[in-house]
Amino acid sequence: MKTICFPDGTTVPALGQGTWMMAEDYGRRSQEIAALREGLSLGLTLIDTAEMYADGEAERLVGEAIAGVRDEVFLVSKAYPQNASRTRLPRACEASLDRLGTDRIDLYLLHWRGSVPLTETVEAMERLVADGKILRWGVSNLDIDDMDELIASGGKGCQTDQILYNLTRRGPEYDLIPSLANRQMPVMAYSPVEQGRLLGHRGLVAMAQARGATPAQMALAWLLRRDGIIPIPKAGSIAHVRENRAALDLALSDAEVQRLDELFPPPRGPESLAML
Ligand code: NDP
Repeated sequence: MKTICFPDGTTVPALGQGTWMMAEDYGRRSQEIAALREGLSLGLTLIDTAEMYADGEAERLVGEAIAGVRDEVFLVSKAYPQNASRTRLPRACEASLDRLGTDRIDLYLLHWRGSVPLTETVEAMERLVADGKILRWGVSNLDIDDMDELIASGGKGCQTDQILYNLTRRGPEYDLIPSLANRQMPVMAYSPVEQGRLLGHRGLVAMAQARGATPAQMALAWLLRRDGIIPIPKAGSIAHVRENRAALDLALSDAEVQRLDELFPPPRGPESLAML
């Protein structure tokens, strides 16, 4: 399976599993756990969650899904910006560990930038690494200026920026993604199928039909064709997980990539980073 390397040399599968909107409805819980487990069995061992999702319940659900196979999983969670301070981050991390039923988080992210100074967050993250509570850290929703400031604030240990990036959100290609690549930092692409809104796009549907694939697979294959991009689709059913996993084996032709450029044009200049 294609893998992606973080700056610290750790490799992960290029395709991960998201969990936003999981654990919102008890009736879907067992199906969601089964979907995550199916993903793990297919090699999608990176699972992305956050203290925010379902008010902590998504972390609990992930904890249940990975019980017994924790060591095979690369666990990503995120802290609220208001928890990213010297005193609050250790508590938020401990609460996440408790809900996840584990003793360490593989990658802990600042969910988005708030009012806590970045230097303080960096210091708090590094302390958690030193204490063995997290193995590495990164950020999410930071635009190019924020990233420059982060690095200047002692943030050289940052491993990734998790951002909104998909066929309909190509702004980061202009400057943010190249600047992260210069730092050997992979991008975690969230909402890779635009929360499902992309899947009815007529042009994409037509291309998928011509290829014998699905629109979700085309959208994921487009992200996966480049180095340094880790899409993390959320799939709440085994069928969707299997479909998404198969996107790893779908190599788009040059003509298909060109057609996608026509349907979803690349940015012509800098655009500020959007977030959901
Ligand atoms: P996605 O783009 O992953 O879309 C999820 C939706 O797409 C769900 O409704 C899902 O339906 C559907 N879907 C998934 N696979 C298929 C398929 N093969 N065919 C048809 N429909 C499909 O959106 P998310 O916003 O969930 O983003 C992914 C993950 O990124 C999140 O779950 C979260 O972990 C992370 N994220 C991070 C953010 C941040 O600020 N850092 C912000 C937003 C997301 P179903 O459930 O029925 O399978």
